[in-house]
Amino acid sequence: MKALQDKIRNEGIVLSETVLKVDSFLNHQVDPQLMLAIGQCFAGAYEGEGVTKVLTLESSGIAPAVMTALTLQVPLVFARKQKSLTLRDDLYVEEVYSFTKQVKSEVAISRKFLTPGERVLIIDDFLAYGEAAFGMARIVEAAGASVAGIGIVIEKSFQSGADKLKEAGYRVDSLARIAALTPDGVQFVE
Ligand code: 5GP
Repeated sequence: MKALQDKIRNEGIVLSETVLKVDSFLNHQVDPQLMLAIGQCFAGAYEGEGVTKVLTLESSGIAPAVMTALTLQVPLVFARKQKSLTLRDDLYVEEVYSFTKQVKSEVAISRKFLTPGERVLIIDDFLAYGEAAFGMARIVEAAGASVAGIGIVIEKSFQSGADKLKEAGYRVDSLARIAALTPDGVQFVE
């Protein structure tokens, strides 16, 4: 997606060889027009796939996911991150290792918002090693629902997440694919 690549080139900050900061349009301040275009792109890719729900992880996945859900005219549910849960009877819970925070945390979704037979499109802001996406997919499957695909705003293709998800049989659609993060800037996959 050209507009997204341009935005990353112009405003992305390379924090290290492995971490990109995009807090001017996605992770802190949000560019709603770009998010709408992103949502329309994902929605177009999954038109006719019978998607009944969009699922993401709070908080940075919410902006692109809500625009996707709006365009597909289905609800959005975001998994909540919680340190330790006491009341969990009514929740689906999975453990996810956070690439940026380097800690394990639990993500949870209320059982009432994911029901058997649903077809779920998972959306996330970044894909690194696939921990967040696999965690959400496990929740979808635990609910007896199925994963229509995984839509990623920014895939870091030099990390293993995309390959692992595809090997596991999931469809992965990434709008920007990064080959390398260097002191000179961001290199995209051709
Ligand atoms: P994964 O679970 O695929 O290893 O990592 C993806 C998750 O970690 C995303 O939900 C995102 O929040 C965070 N993440 C991974 N890499 C980056 C990055 O380079 N920049 C930012 N801002 N977040 C990242």
